[in-house]
Amino acid sequence: MKTTLKTNITVNDICEGFMYNESEGKGLFGLSGKLTIQPEYQRNYIYADGKKDVAVIKSILRGYPLGLIYFNKVGSDKFEVLDGQQRITSFGRYVTNKFAVKDENGMEQYFNGIAKDKQEKILETKILIYECEGRESEIKEWFKTINIAGVPLNDQELLNAVYSGPFVTLGKEEFSNSQNANIHKWRAYIKGSANRQEFLERALDWVSKGNIGDYMSQHRNDTNIKELKNYFNSVIEWVNSIFKEVEKEMCGLEWGRLYETYKNTSYDLKKVSGQVRTLYADPYIKNRRGIFEYILGGGKSPKLLDVRVFGEATKQSVYAEQTEKAKGKSVSNCPLCAVGHDANKSKIWKLEEMEADHVSAWSKGGTTDKNNCQMLCKTHNRAKGNR
Ligand SMILES: [Zn+2]
Repeated sequence: MKTTLKTNITVNDICEGFMYNESEGKGLFGLSGKLTIQPEYQRNYIYADGKKDVAVIKSILRGYPLGLIYFNKVGSDKFEVLDGQQRITSFGRYVTNKFAVKDENGMEQYFNGIAKDKQEKILETKILIYECEGRESEIKEWFKTINIAGVPLNDQELLNAVYSGPFVTLGKEEFSNSQNANIHKWRAYIKGSANRQEFLERALDWVSKGNIGDYMSQHRNDTNIKELKNYFNSVIEWVNSIFKEVEKEMCGLEWGRLYETYKNTSYDLKKVSGQVRTLYADPYIKNRRGIFEYILGGGKSPKLLDVRVFGEATKQSVYAEQTEKAKGKSVSNCPLCAVGHDANKSKIWKLEEMEADHVSAWSKGGTTDKNNCQMLCKTHNRAKGNR
């Protein structure tokens, strides 16, 4: 890879013909059309948060260095931004009056509202630019190893860079386009930001059963994303049809895995909706996120719900009562040992050798309070739990 350091390119040069696509959140072109600001393997513009973009402008006004920017030379007079896209898009948007920055008096000022000398200071600021020339693979490999100041690329952004091509382009169009009306609906089930490729990541994760990199490599040159889209929609439609009410705990669950496991099971939808309401109202359930998988699995794994356990005070008091009674009758303080025929029939267990058990199981409506608590020796408690 060949690199040349350029020291005479100004903010003004780069902003010549600056174009920004508001709907896709992308800086497009600059440098009189010679520069592509956001090549496909770049992430979307994420500095538009009123902090990072403002910091770029304040740095320029204070004369602080903006850091190195890397261009990839792709033709005799054509360049792509390899690193620095966020900074370039920030000053490009500022100079074209897309956002305001507070001045020393705390007043929001757009570029066209600030003093001429300040405007000139910004426009005349020189940017340090490395022009790189090399094979695509070489440049992408290198791109993988650099992290843009402050916000490192996440896994999916890296994969998009490594496997850039028509498939990634289409995937981003569908899953990281904030103008896509479906994003709002998907947000109920998927955590993260579409802009940071987390929806695309989920879609790929589901269709590939967790092998995102392999899948992207196999489909890299595909000119359609049918399978990806269909599979994703099937999962969402499936969840949607089984659980009519959207609960906030649904967001970020492993819906792809649940779909694979339960897609062929039939459900009584009325019953399901009743179960959801009952479980949501149950004060003993600590993990509400487990409710959906618990219902899908036919209520066989209460572990998913992390049902509240008996407190220490309850255990001690039940232990004391049980032990006193048992001693009076010369039988074991474990009620199950006491009715047995082995050597433990009259054994008095220590507190730490026993465990608390729901007399009437939680799943059958038993409560987690003293009246429904009995102490069993560990062997008996575990045997009961496994039934
Ligand atoms: Zn026992």
